[in-house]
Amino acid sequence: MRQAITGYHLDDAGHWVAQLACGHNQHVRHDPPWTVRDWVTTRQGRREMRGHRLDCPKCDRHAPATPPPTTDRPTRANHAEASRRL
Ligand SMILES: [Zn+2]
Repeated sequence: MRQAITGYHLDDAGHWVAQLACGHNQHVRHDPPWTVRDWVTTRQGRREMRGHRLDCPKCDRHAPATPPPTTDRPTRANHAEASRRL
């Protein structure tokens, strides 16, 4: 089932994870040469892909929704991402 991207967060390893409208999360890694997703590495690219629909295998398996991490306090990974922008 295809679900729209509603937001993003970084996992503990610093990989980007898309949050989907269905409540599931899905990795959208930029990990060349295996996975190339240049758009996910920039704020503008991520913003442009909001609303884009990804195929969600978790929906097909009727997996329970994953709550996104709390965003009131930056995680270690988010902090690292912010530092790289300085
Ligand atoms: Zn889903």
